[in-house]
Amino acid sequence: MKYDLPQNIKDLTAYEPITGNFKIRLDANESYVPLESLQLQAFADALQEIEFNRYPDSGANRLCEAFATYYGVNRDLVTAFNGSDELLSILISAFLGKNGKLAVFEQDFSMYRLYAQIYCADLEVLPKEDDLSISVDRTIGLLREKGVTMLLFSNPCNPTSLGLSQQDVLRLVTETEALIIVDEAYMDFWDQSLLKSVGKYDNLMILSTCSKAVGLASLRLGFAVAPAKITQALRAVKSPYNVNTLSQVFGQLVLESAEYLKEAAAEIIENRKWLQAQLQELLAYDEIEDVYPSCTNFVFLKVKGSKQIYQALLERSIAVREMSPYLRITAGSGHENRALIRELTDILKGEA
Ligand code: PMP
Repeated sequence: MKYDLPQNIKDLTAYEPITGNFKIRLDANESYVPLESLQLQAFADALQEIEFNRYPDSGANRLCEAFATYYGVNRDLVTAFNGSDELLSILISAFLGKNGKLAVFEQDFSMYRLYAQIYCADLEVLPKEDDLSISVDRTIGLLREKGVTMLLFSNPCNPTSLGLSQQDVLRLVTETEALIIVDEAYMDFWDQSLLKSVGKYDNLMILSTCSKAVGLASLRLGFAVAPAKITQALRAVKSPYNVNTLSQVFGQLVLESAEYLKEAAAEIIENRKWLQAQLQELLAYDEIEDVYPSCTNFVFLKVKGSKQIYQALLERSIAVREMSPYLRITAGSGHENRALIRELTDILKGEA
């Protein structure tokens, strides 16, 4: 054989989200809030102006301005990407160099480790505590001891839904030499964002996305907010026309709807609180072992027989995420959450 696949990608299979026509989708942490008809009309109007034969604006300038205005950050430190997945791929492939060492936590967003494997990164997997929280003291010790140059983690965390306070994250930034990359994909649902601190430290950068609270997972929009030197390098390394024109234009329009966005996030938080309280009631059943506190739009639970319960929910046309021995359930609309609780209770009663 002339060509054999290299070891780093040999056994990989394509990422396959749950497919099928499930009535209720609570598996991907998306927003359930639909766009307003006014926004849709504005999209339709904007379409008339788009020059489809031309390349997009390489710097996605108006989009980045809308992002910077909505979040109150310095526009010069914002760069847009084709989803944060593209950004993660660039960071891990280009920003470690030959001698860099990446650290991620077990458990955290699975793409971090996937890209580390694809790019043959020197990887250190850091432990979490038994209650799935992060010990800052222990982490600082390990980062120093192992000579880590880049720490990447989600805050609040997908999948645990737990968060580290601003103060704790800043300890990692100030007490280690590593570049601290905080993936704030779910931070619109919590109040500990460090976006406004970017630029004050040369080793802190934040990732953000429009796929969660902003409700635009379909458009694939991710953002880096980073100190000037890192921003300059990101812009040099990314491919020139990485964000397509439709996503730039639509994303800008929605990011300019501050009131709608704040209301949508507040409503999602209310629904998540309801869902979490209801799931906590189910601790009365032996199968539900733990329901973790949540700083996000989803709830993480430890479940005996998680696979069977996941299957039973699928049979009732409800998709959640199974990560044995856990289930991760995204907060949906009131109707969706009520259906989930009703069906889950039924299943637990049947199996008890
Ligand atoms: N970071 C985290 C922590 C996520 O949970 C996700 C989506 N599941 C992403 C990044 C990816 O976001 P995007 O849709 O912008 O690629």
